[in-house]
Amino acid sequence: MPIIVQKFGGTSVATPEKIAAAARKAIRAQQDGNQVVVVVSAMGHNTDMLVDLAHQVNEEPPAREMDMLLSTGEQVSVALMAMSIHKFGYKAVSLTGAQMGIKTDSSYTKARIKTISTDRIRKLLDDGNIVIAAGFQGVDEELNITTLGRGGSDTTAVALAAVLKADACEIYTDVDGVYTTDPRLLPEARQMNLISYDEMLELASLGAGVMHNRSIEFAKKFGVPIRVRSSFSDAPGSMIVSSPESDSVGVCGAALTQDEARLTIQGVPDRPGTSFEIFKRLADRKITVDMIVQNIGQENKADISFTVPSSELKETLKAVNEAAKIVGAEGVTHDDAVAKVSVVGRGMAKQTGVAEKMFHAIAEAGINIQIITTSEIKISVIVQRNQSLAALRAVHHAFQLHQSPPDANVWDVAKHRNDSNLSLNEIVERLRSVNMEKLTLVDISMTSDQARITLSGVPDQPGLASDVFSKVASAGIFVDMIVQSYDGYQGETSISFTAPETQLDDCLNVLKKLDYKFRKISGSKDIAKLSVSGIGLRSHTSVGIGMFEALAEANINVLMINTSELRVNVVVDGRDGERGLAALQKKFSDSFL
Ligand code: ASP
Ligand code: MG
Repeated sequence: MPIIVQKFGGTSVATPEKIAAAARKAIRAQQDGNQVVVVVSAMGHNTDMLVDLAHQVNEEPPAREMDMLLSTGEQVSVALMAMSIHKFGYKAVSLTGAQMGIKTDSSYTKARIKTISTDRIRKLLDDGNIVIAAGFQGVDEELNITTLGRGGSDTTAVALAAVLKADACEIYTDVDGVYTTDPRLLPEARQMNLISYDEMLELASLGAGVMHNRSIEFAKKFGVPIRVRSSFSDAPGSMIVSSPESDSVGVCGAALTQDEARLTIQGVPDRPGTSFEIFKRLADRKITVDMIVQNIGQENKADISFTVPSSELKETLKAVNEAAKIVGAEGVTHDDAVAKVSVVGRGMAKQTGVAEKMFHAIAEAGINIQIITTSEIKISVIVQRNQSLAALRAVHHAFQLHQSPPDANVWDVAKHRNDSNLSLNEIVERLRSVNMEKLTLVDISMTSDQARITLSGVPDQPGLASDVFSKVASAGIFVDMIVQSYDGYQGETSISFTAPETQLDDCLNVLKKLDYKFRKISGSKDIAKLSVSGIGLRSHTSVGIGMFEALAEANINVLMINTSELRVNVVVDGRDGERGLAALQKKFSDSFL
């Protein structure tokens, strides 16, 4: 019999009436011939209330006791859900995390699942019960209660779907699916039929708050198809699966992250280990760093810019000022009135002109771009916050995201069963591994057939990036990594990018013919790009730091860097390539499956 896991979030079980509505959905799924496991979150804002209560008793509540407290929210809702199903005349049994055998590590308030035993759940299902599972919780080796981090019920649902090899994991929520961008920001946003795990991971980390990021990593790792749908209707919602909605489009979605702050450390001595010195201080303080860009050093000095959430600016400044002193930097500047606009799409990895189209749309809207970073399937830019919504709208329109792609795929369960990306053996193998949520790297590689091109002293004005990259694209040059940094010097920025070595001379010729007065145009074939790819690179922030650390220890200078959910790339000097590769392989040797 097929198994379906249904998850109901806090707003979907906020009142007795809503609990009854959710119970009816579960009963209907059982009547349709499925075995049904229901995962529930705490009712409404109960978890917030408990957090608040804890802080009234103790401003710094011990983490173990916090988990003891927070886990009760879900215990309330599973019991009520089971009662509701009984009231309708059907069989249901509620279980806590411990009762279902969800074993986690002991990192209270953000525990990671290690193993789940399915015996009890299977037995209850075989006896005709609907099993009601408490989300967000587990127990450690010593049977201490742990929780998985805010929003963690999604992860419980996906994990149960994985171990039970469910046909579907349905996430019932207060939105009716995944949109091309936040419909509250742009009414023309379109609901997608389906989106790939990779794209959803990128959008989720950009604040598309549909689901807990870790649950999507999990789904990808175990090939669990997810359906996001409304608890208040029967609309089909959106599927999150291995393949994208369309095979032809470069971009599937756009996102705006409003509350960003930019920091620039100026005049950093360009030598191995400085990035590590800086970012390890931020990692120690658990600050989420985004969009790290480093321009190519002049006179052995480099500027490093990055963004953090505005709310973390104060803390970041403390850490950065400390680090700046230690590495002997010239100064630190910051801007708290910026926002990040990003586009995401698996198609852009195989297409040219996507970056150029984005820059063009923003230029047409008369908006200046301060910082650019690109990765395999994402391009992000920093603009002034008060212009960011206009930039998002321009970009959404330029990629015609409001229209369904002509070749839109539909989800086919039967097909998925036949050719799921992962073989059953692989899933079983992964499930058996000690820690289900462990960092999983798939590849560490080096490419040395790329060249680096740097424009320094670039006038900081709207339309410049658009102009440069459209000329480069029309010369047929395939641009890979783009980094525009914020120099911190009045009215100037610098742009570096990589392109195939064989196209370096053509590219330099194109740039020299442009009508701008750059301070310097330089290029070098003597670079190597080192990449670490895997699953969950963003939630395991240690990867970026680990790379900096390994390269610093090997005395290797980092010239450019970009990061995404799927991969972290660094560009180093050509002669350091092989040694850098070896250093990374050693560093991450136990992170492979
Ligand atoms: N109740 C928990 C929270 O609010 C877990 C969840 O809702 O997923 O974070
Ligand atoms: Mg971020």
